[in-house]
Amino acid sequence: MTDYVPPLRDIRFALANAADLPGLLALPAFAHLDAGAVDDALAEAARFMAEVIAPTNRVGDQVGSQRQPDGTVVTPPGFIDAYRRYVEAGWGAAPFDPEHGGGGLPWAVAVAIQEMLTAANMAFSLCPMLTHGAVHMLETHGSEEQRATWLPKLVTGEWTGTMCLTEPQAGSDVGALTTRAVPQPDGTYRITGQKIFITWGEHDLTENTVHLVLARTPSAAPGTRGISSFVVPTRLVGRDGAPGERNGVVCASIEHKLGIHASPTCTLVFDDAVGELVGGEHEGMRAMFTMMNNARLSVALEGLAIADRAYQQALAFARERQQGRAPDAAPGTASPIIEHPDVRRMLLTMRSHVAAVRAICYATARCTDQARHHPDPDTRARAQERADLLTPVAKAWGTDVGIEVASIGIQVHGGMGYVEETGAAQHLRDARIAAIYEGTNGIQAIDLVTRKLPMRDGAAIADLLADVYRGVVELERAAHPQLAHALRRAHDEVAAATQWLRKQTDAADVLAGATPYLRALAITVGGACAARSLLAADALDDAEHATQIRADSSFFLTQVVPQVLGLVPAVTAGAAALEGVDPTPVPA
Ligand SMILES: Cc1cc2nc3c(=O)[nH]c(=O)nc-3n(C[C@H](O)[C@H](O)[C@H](O)COP(=O)(O)OP(=O)(O)OC[C@H]3O[C@@H](n4cnc5c(N)ncnc54)[C@H](O)[C@@H]3O)c2cc1C
Repeated sequence: MTDYVPPLRDIRFALANAADLPGLLALPAFAHLDAGAVDDALAEAARFMAEVIAPTNRVGDQVGSQRQPDGTVVTPPGFIDAYRRYVEAGWGAAPFDPEHGGGGLPWAVAVAIQEMLTAANMAFSLCPMLTHGAVHMLETHGSEEQRATWLPKLVTGEWTGTMCLTEPQAGSDVGALTTRAVPQPDGTYRITGQKIFITWGEHDLTENTVHLVLARTPSAAPGTRGISSFVVPTRLVGRDGAPGERNGVVCASIEHKLGIHASPTCTLVFDDAVGELVGGEHEGMRAMFTMMNNARLSVALEGLAIADRAYQQALAFARERQQGRAPDAAPGTASPIIEHPDVRRMLLTMRSHVAAVRAICYATARCTDQARHHPDPDTRARAQERADLLTPVAKAWGTDVGIEVASIGIQVHGGMGYVEETGAAQHLRDARIAAIYEGTNGIQAIDLVTRKLPMRDGAAIADLLADVYRGVVELERAAHPQLAHALRRAHDEVAAATQWLRKQTDAADVLAGATPYLRALAITVGGACAARSLLAADALDDAEHATQIRADSSFFLTQVVPQVLGLVPAVTAGAAALEGVDPTPVPA
C-alpha cells in the first residue's frame, strides 16, 4: 500500500468554493477564527493523519480487533498509542462548542479533517465519528445535567460514543426493535435486550464507552413512535465524574467482516443495565435522527476518502508499471501504463468523481454550518432544508462512488490489484460497508423521493435544480457551450423525472424509481459542482492545479453527466417493470 498524502490543495479548493469558507468565517459564530488559523489547523491535521494514523491502516486490516474470552476487545498494535495522540492533539474536539471544551471550528472544516482521518484509516476513524454523533445528540437533546456529565469527556475523546439501534429482527426497520427500558424510582431506567453490529461497542482505547441506546418503555406504542433513547455507559459514573463499576452490558461476540477489520463490530447484551432517558419518553427517533444525519454525511465522507486513497495508489502504480507500447511511443519501447488512453480514462474517472463527491459533501457541511449559526432565521431554515435534501444524495452516491472507484483502482493494478500485498483490495473491502450502514443506499433513495422531494411542496428540490441551471448559464457566459449543453440536458431530464415522481399516486411506482433517480440527481448536482469548479479555477495562482481542475470538470461534464440520460427511463418505468421477480418462497 502506498503512503497516504493528504490532498490539501484539493481540500482547500473545495473548502473555498463548495463550502464557501470565507462566507462561513464571516459569521459571528466564527469571529474568533481567521483564515490563517484554519489553514494552519488543516496543514497540521494533514501532517498528523499521514504520520500518525495512516501507518496503522495495514496492520489494522491484517490483525483486526480481537475479542478476549472475558468479553474485552483488544485493538490492533499501535491503535492505543495513535488514539492517545489523537486525543492529546485535540482533533476530536475540533468542531465542538468551546463551552464544552471544543475547538469551535466550522463543521465544514471538521469534515475536511475527517476526510483525512478516514482516508488514513477508515476503521480507526469510525470510533471518533460515532463519538461526534453522540456529542451532537447530547448537545441537542440532553438535559443540562447530562451535558455536564457526558460532554466534556466525549468532546475531548477521552471517552467514546456508540449508536445502538440494530437488533436481529430490526435492521432497516428500526421500529421493530424490542429492547426494554423499565423506569426506576430514582429516575433511571433498567435496559434489557440485545443489540447487534455495534461499531466500536467494546474496545481498549478508553476507560469508558457511552452507548446511546434505543429502547421501549412499558407504555410505548408499536413502531418508531414508541421508541425512547437512553445513555448507557459501559462503566457507571460516580458523583466525582470518574468511571466506577461495570454496568450490565457485555460484548458477546464480534463479527468477522469483509473489511474494516480493526473496527470491532459487536453484539452487545444489555442485562438490567442502568440508563438515563435522553429527551422525553417516546422521542427517541427525533434524538437519534440528530445523530444519524450527522453520521450519514460522515459515511458519505468514507466513500470520498477511500476513493481518494484508491486514486492515489492507482496513479502511483500506473506511473511505474510498464506494459505494451502507447500510441505515440517509440517502436520497441515499453510504456508506463498511464500512457494508455484506457488507463487514463480509468484515472480521470476516479479523480473527477472524487472531486464531485467532495464538492457535494463540503456543500452539505456548509449548509449545516449555516443552519446552526446564521443570524437570519430564514437563511437558517433554507440551509437546513438544503442539508436535509443533500444528505441522502451525498450518503448514497458518495458511498457508491467509493466502491466503484476502489474497484477501478484494482483494475488499474491488473492482477496485482486482486492480490492482497498491494493494499488495493483493502480499499474495496473497506469501502463496501458504507453503502449498507447508516441506512442502506436503497433506504436513502426512498428517503429522498418520499420525504425530501415533497419538502415545501416541491420548492426545495426546485431551488436545487434552479441552482444547477445557474451553472448552465454560467458555463454559457464563460463560452463553454458544449459543457453547458451537457449540463442543460441532464438538468432538463432530472427536472422532468422529478415532476413525474411528484405526480404519481401509486407509492410503488415512486419507490421503484428511487435508486436511479438518486443517482441521476447526484450526477447532475455533481455536474453543477464541476461547472463551478471549472470557472473558479481561473482565479487560481497555481497553474498546474487549475489545469487539473479544468481536466476533471470537463471530463465529468462531458463523459459522466450524459449518463443521466440513460438513468431517467428507469426512474419513470414504474413498478410494473420490476414484476419479473417472483416473491413466492419455493415450497420445501
Ligand atoms: C460493519 C457494520 C457496522 C454497523 N454498525 C452499526 C452501529 O454502530 N449501530 C447500529 O445500530 N447498527 C449498525 N450496523 C447495522 C446496519 O445499520 C444495518 O446492517 C443496516 O441498517 C441494514 O439493516 P440489515 O442489515 O438488517 O438489512 P435489512 O434491513 O434486512 O436489509 C436487507 C436489504 O433489503 C433492503 N430493504 C430493507 N427494507 C427495505 C424497504 N423498506 N424498502 C426497500 N428496501 C428495503 C435493504 O436496502 C437491503 O438491501 C452495522 C452493520 C455493519 C455490517
